[in-house]
Amino acid sequence: MDDCIFCKIASGAIPSKKVYEDDQLIAFHDIAPQAPVHVLVVPKKHIPGVNELAAEDVALVGHVYLVIQQLVRELNIDESGYRVVVNSGKDGSQSVPHLHFHVLGGRSLAWPPG
Ligand code: 5GP
Ligand code: ZN
Repeated sequence: MDDCIFCKIASGAIPSKKVYEDDQLIAFHDIAPQAPVHVLVVPKKHIPGVNELAAEDVALVGHVYLVIQQLVRELNIDESGYRVVVNSGKDGSQSVPHLHFHVLGGRSLAWPPG
């Protein structure tokens, strides 16, 4: 999508602090980190959000989680713990309408969220 910020990051048109990339997804540090570790895992395919996931995306979502498993080891938060968050829609505080998985860690995270 031409006017989508995460499509532009995925294509390299907008720079990011990249921590992982393959043919299906990219992961990079959030520009406004909410925890000592705050990485976004973003499928390259423009999917607006969870509501728009289709059966053909099942393997992609599974791949996202296996990459997260690898990233949390590399970022050294696999043992201390972390949170994977997908904000969805207005009440979910989604601000970028391109599916992405927040990976937050490096501090104790409160529950319930605000
Ligand atoms: P959402 O609010 O949609 O769940 O999450 C969007 C996230 O993208 C926010 O945490 C925000 O800080 C991050 N973000 C927005 N624009 C950029 C950008 O240009 N670069 C990076 N690295 N992160 C961004
Ligand atoms: Zn997009």
